[in-house]
Amino acid sequence: MTKSIAVIGSGFSSLAAACYLAKAGHTVTLFEKNKTFGGRARQLKRDGFVFDMGPTWYWMPDVFERFFGDFDKKPEDFYELIKLSPAYSVYFGQNQAITIADSLEKIKETFEAHEVGGAAKLQKFIDRALNNYNIAIKDLVYRPGISPLELITPKTALKVGQFFSTIARDVRAAFKNPHLVAILEFPVLFLGAKPSNTPAFYSFMNYADFGLGTFHPKNGMYSVVQGMVALATELGVTLKADQNVEAIQVTDGKATGLVVNGQSQSFDQVLSGADYHHTETLLPTKYRQYSEAYWEKRTFAPSSLLFYVGFDQPINNVEHHTLFFDVPFEKHAACIYDKPSWPEEPLFYASFPSKTDDNAAPKGKEAGIFLIPLAVGIEDTDELREAYFDKIMTRFESLTGQSVKKNIIFKESFCLNDFINDYNSYKGNAYGLANTLMQTAFLRPKLKSKKVVGLFFTGQLTVPGPGVPPALISGKIVSGLMDQSINS
Ligand SMILES: Cc1cc2nc3c(=O)[nH]c(=O)nc-3n(C[C@H](O)[C@H](O)[C@H](O)COP(=O)(O)OP(=O)(O)OC[C@H]3O[C@@H](n4cnc5c(N)ncnc54)[C@H](O)[C@@H]3O)c2cc1C
Repeated sequence: MTKSIAVIGSGFSSLAAACYLAKAGHTVTLFEKNKTFGGRARQLKRDGFVFDMGPTWYWMPDVFERFFGDFDKKPEDFYELIKLSPAYSVYFGQNQAITIADSLEKIKETFEAHEVGGAAKLQKFIDRALNNYNIAIKDLVYRPGISPLELITPKTALKVGQFFSTIARDVRAAFKNPHLVAILEFPVLFLGAKPSNTPAFYSFMNYADFGLGTFHPKNGMYSVVQGMVALATELGVTLKADQNVEAIQVTDGKATGLVVNGQSQSFDQVLSGADYHHTETLLPTKYRQYSEAYWEKRTFAPSSLLFYVGFDQPINNVEHHTLFFDVPFEKHAACIYDKPSWPEEPLFYASFPSKTDDNAAPKGKEAGIFLIPLAVGIEDTDELREAYFDKIMTRFESLTGQSVKKNIIFKESFCLNDFINDYNSYKGNAYGLANTLMQTAFLRPKLKSKKVVGLFFTGQLTVPGPGVPPALISGKIVSGLMDQSINS
């Protein structure tokens, strides 16, 4: 049966779902409030510099291959993928950095150099992570989160302990060197919670990191968005930018259309990839499933303060991706999760895409992206942004042994207020809802509305969770549920 379907938002999950729904034969119209597509993965261009405004780490290439493969395509039909070598480096002090190479064998050598027996212990840790990866990414995360029974398989039954232990505990049981511990805990930060609050089963992220590697799509992550927009267009999706959805219309408990830029439009079904909380505010109160108190109690993944900086000369002693973990993680994490506030001494991350990609900056110049993870719902002012820029630049200069402030041509910032204004993000979250034990799979907000027939949700606040690969998976799962409900 062919239906007319409206999709709200153009993040990876919405774009993916739109492609699957069009392939299934439905008439799909996508509405994005901003001027360009891609959701949090928009692009900033200025004076010959090009920045990804959101995601910069391309992990789990197999998930992208699987997505494009579902349409008999390959990622390389749309963009060129470069494997980063080294993958990244992590600063722990002045001129003191650990570099993570592009293969497990080389990374094992680094671990051995920092802890006796480190290579063998890492191999064992990654073997287990690979096993989890095969269970999770090849199977579990593609389930719709309807029932706890989805998680119970002969393979997961053997791993129950890993759902009740945490990444922090498992990593510390294996490694003593605090720098190696920090490196092994880093990948789960993508899931939005503290390692001490993330089930050990999520060590599959370590396999993604060391086993599969870190990639950069030529011209940035935005080229993935462009590829998906091209695919959606080819499949017949109508994509509309600058279209603010103001209401979801419900008649007799059934979604019947949208109000977009003041105009009412009829549809048979509605899918929203906008932030879940925001989507429910588009409904009359009685049709909302989750109360304000419910959202208030969730553990949100962090927000971020971001800077996009054009430098007039190359920056030394950094890799394409460089992490600055020279201050205590626990103190910063407490400011994100326990007592939401600006951290006195923040950890931060810097990316220099022009180290790999000639198109990211004019010749002889450098593009820099700086990111400080922050709590959601805290104050955001120009003064705070400036103070924190100064703080991290001073540390950056001292840690990397160079002065760079004088080389800044321009800088632009993006923080909580922008996440709220640009994406209708709940409390300014950057990465959605964290993957804690109590917010995993069937314990997350549902893909299908319990109160409105024909209304569905996708994206980083629902199943399976934050990140670009999960967003692609979310779009696939929800489109399957929609198609099923249409044909049942
Ligand atoms: C700074 C940052 C860095 C990140 N780094 C990484 C990384 O390195 N690797 C990684 O894998 N992931 C990363 N992530 C996470 C990843 O980008 C997200 O999980 C993913 O892009 C979310 O996609 P989504 O489909 O949930 O929707 P979103 O990208 O949130 O898109 C939702 C869209 O809905 C639109 N919308 C909202 N309200 C309306 C309305 N009323 N009408 C019309 N449209 C509306 C919004 O404008 C937006 O375009 C990062 C995220 C951020 C913010």
